[in-house]
Amino acid sequence: MSHIQLPRLPWSPDALEPAISKRTIDTHYGKHHKAYVDKLNKLIAGTAYETLTLDQIVRETAGDKSKNGRAIFNNAGQAWNHNRYWESLSPESGEPSDALSAQIKQDFGGLAKLKGEMVAKGVGHFASGWVWLTWANDKLNVIDTHDADNAPAHGHEALLVLDLWEHAYYLDYQQERERHLRALVEDALNWKGASARFDKAR
Ligand code: MN
Repeated sequence: MSHIQLPRLPWSPDALEPAISKRTIDTHYGKHHKAYVDKLNKLIAGTAYETLTLDQIVRETAGDKSKNGRAIFNNAGQAWNHNRYWESLSPESGEPSDALSAQIKQDFGGLAKLKGEMVAKGVGHFASGWVWLTWANDKLNVIDTHDADNAPAHGHEALLVLDLWEHAYYLDYQQERERHLRALVEDALNWKGASARFDKAR
């Protein structure tokens, strides 16, 4: 049995339509995410990393400049990021908890402004990567990372993450990243999950 598992999706593949189509989820989860997990398991087979959790592998290899270390971080990061990405989306988007709402008001001036900042940061990001809502330095932060790089590698707790790689939206939106991000922040963010992660992190 492989050490790192591909987790089950938290909802059915058509659950996020029309914001994300079943066709996109099937490819994104079943091909892209699975490929990162499979490649990671090949890279760590027979190494000390086989005794670590995915979270530990990400933290251990963050900043590792060796060729093998980079390859392990890239695939572990992508496996981790997709896990959190599925957990960041929900067909029952809901609202932030009272505690998270108050923090959003304090740090961004309100939920609409936070959503706008996530979209703007995602649109402004060049090429592939991720846009995050994090908890670090006793405040909420919207940050972007390149390729497989991620919030935990920078000591941030990841409350939400959106995938900026073209495979996340090209089938449904072609090059229109902004329209895709706007659909997600308006209808598909998992505020229940983000609120639970916020309670745990602060
Ligand atoms: Mn992806």
